[in-house]
Amino acid sequence: SAPASDEDDDAEWGPGQGPRGPDLPPMNPTYRYGDPSLPVSKYRRQILWLVENHAVTIIVGETGSGKTTQVPQFLLEAGWAESGYAIACTQPRRVAASTVAARVAEEMGVELGTAVGYAVRFDNAISERTRIKYLTDGVLLREMMDDPLLTQYSVIMVDEAHERSLATDMLLGLLKKVLKRRPDLRLIISSATLEAGKLRDFFDTSTSASTARRRAALAAAAAAAGAGVGGVGCSEPDRTPAVVTVEGRTHPVQVHYLQQPAADYVAAAVSAAVDIHCEDLPGDILIFLTGQEEVQAAVAQLEEQSRRLAGGRVSYSLRMMPLPLYAGLPGAAQSAVFRPAPRGVRKVVAATNIAETSLTLEGVVYVVDCCFVKQRAYNPLTGLESLLVAPLSQASAAQRAGRAGRVRAGHCFRLCREEDFAQLPKVTVPEMQRSNLVSMVLQLKSLGIDNVMRFEWLAPPPAEAMVRALEELHALRVLDDDARLTKDVGLALAALPLEPSLGAALLAARRLGCVEELLTVAALMSVPHVWAPAAGALRAADEAKAKFAAAEGDGVTMLNVHRAWRSSGRSSAWAGRHFLNASSLYRADEARDQLLGLLRRHGLLDANTPPPSCGADMEPVCRALAAGQFMCAAVYEGTQYNPLAAESDPGVHVYRLVRYTAHKTAPLKLRIHNSSVLWRSAPPCVVYRSVQQADSGWYEMQQADSGLYEMQGLTAVQPDWLVELAPHMFHRPK
Ligand code: ADP
Ligand code: MG
Repeated sequence: SAPASDEDDDAEWGPGQGPRGPDLPPMNPTYRYGDPSLPVSKYRRQILWLVENHAVTIIVGETGSGKTTQVPQFLLEAGWAESGYAIACTQPRRVAASTVAARVAEEMGVELGTAVGYAVRFDNAISERTRIKYLTDGVLLREMMDDPLLTQYSVIMVDEAHERSLATDMLLGLLKKVLKRRPDLRLIISSATLEAGKLRDFFDTSTSASTARRRAALAAAAAAAGAGVGGVGCSEPDRTPAVVTVEGRTHPVQVHYLQQPAADYVAAAVSAAVDIHCEDLPGDILIFLTGQEEVQAAVAQLEEQSRRLAGGRVSYSLRMMPLPLYAGLPGAAQSAVFRPAPRGVRKVVAATNIAETSLTLEGVVYVVDCCFVKQRAYNPLTGLESLLVAPLSQASAAQRAGRAGRVRAGHCFRLCREEDFAQLPKVTVPEMQRSNLVSMVLQLKSLGIDNVMRFEWLAPPPAEAMVRALEELHALRVLDDDARLTKDVGLALAALPLEPSLGAALLAARRLGCVEELLTVAALMSVPHVWAPAAGALRAADEAKAKFAAAEGDGVTMLNVHRAWRSSGRSSAWAGRHFLNASSLYRADEARDQLLGLLRRHGLLDANTPPPSCGADMEPVCRALAAGQFMCAAVYEGTQYNPLAAESDPGVHVYRLVRYTAHKTAPLKLRIHNSSVLWRSAPPCVVYRSVQQADSGWYEMQQADSGLYEMQGLTAVQPDWLVELAPHMFHRPK
């Protein structure tokens, strides 16, 4: 029978009688369920029918139609989380996982962390009782290491699949394998755009010979056992993925372009927003920028404009309320963004692309889009992965524009010329194809997937990037000569939820007697947004940071921060005064405990004695960091001065990547990012944690052909250490 049309009411399958049959106990009457006014609610019955009968269901629907918040509630109500099972819903973004979970808990009238919870790396609100779990795709991948078939879940919803994050793509490949082994598991994939065709082909295993064989075998087994057809969990579902398209309530959005290209898109965005405001028509404004700094700069400029308008002669019916929205935003500020604007006030929200599809803002009528996005980029030739402000894809721009049509007909102002827009890429390149794959390969290997080159990908990563990752893991001694995980390093690293270089540093710390310190450094380096400089207080924030600065570099500085935080009694007020994000610091403490627990559980550290500490001597800490990050070693080459700059200008300290001189390729130029405490001091040799591509300034113009990278998270090291720690990579110059 075909799925019922969305016009059907739910009389047949009323509450307590999920489509899984009347034998299920009635739903828990203490919950309230969902928001029936959302577009997806009309499809409730159809979605449940499809999930019941198909291994894979793909839900395509406009942002804001209720996929993320409602579908897991439908499943819960229909009995998919009975007998100890839970429902998982994955998100590519941490902030989305916690925000959405909070929203759903509120809709259901339960406390967050009870029936509804979330789990992101180093932070969670879940309990034994949690039935709907919002988690990042990365956390679900971690869970697979302990439980490869994800047996605690009856349904896994992979949300925001259109984003094609590295972890989402990897998860989809792995889930395809899991589905073959678990006929009772259901997969829902939801996407804001029509990636559906590709996804359906990827998951369509209905025609393969092996499926037919397995189906026949299952049927025979069922017949032998005398089971009827359709017993819950034992009938083989249809292996053809089903696709549902949720028609949302959207209104037309008129798109406008610039006549002349904008030189500074932050300024252009602010002036566009002010122009819209001065038209004096109602409706909130949403501005898309690329990062936190830009968002803060825009909010500061908007506040100034708002004061200017308030003091002017023209009186407007609305007052402008500028608000920021980005991933590291403290909780209270975030809820202000979601609260409807009070009467007489117009919200002007400056956001990063988290507002593109992950989070929905109500009341937006105007969108201002800078048409850029901050993205990961990876060059397998140089081995450098960096964050880069890149042109937006047309598909993403359409999503952003769509945010204006939620309430009524809206307007989208793109800050570029129409002919330039036409040149933008049609779709975003999947992250898999522009990332360093070291962590991913390590995870696949530890899940027993030995031939990573032959893994079934939704879109395969570039072979050079794969080879590069294998080389790097070999250099870290994670893989042996046969590309298998080594017992001492490989298996241990796979157990730690850290990027491999930090994990390797932590392992080295055992030998060097500074596990206590490295636990703190690794935790603080893994938790995002430790520093939270408020807009307009960047200078004061720098001064606060200078109080903790250590000549050894940013890792030891983090250690100083943590010590001071502890002696303040872990005070939030203290953190605020020093422009530190208290919730990140709490989370770092949790991360520390978790890492310590893992080291002990895996027999990597004695369980009965406190972790060894190096006391006041910081050299072991720097050595441990060097042991993990030796692939990222750079030596000082010289300082270049801009002839036009002031006398006091410190110039640009230029570094050269060490490992490339060994490869006889053109040496890569690096410099120190001004967020590092080593920015001015220019030590002779450093290891770094990450790089980003430098904005174009005077020096970059001189380097136009090669580009210049800025190093972040630095530690000053001795070149001799590198030779000692990684003799297979480095040798003393003759
Ligand atoms: P989708 O996943 O289809 O994009 P969601 O389930 O995220 O849609 O959101 C559905 C609706 O729920 C939104 O349109 C919005 O009205 C409401 N909503 C979601 N999250 C929040 C929140 N944190 N605060 C207020 N309303 C929210
Ligand atoms: Mg969603």
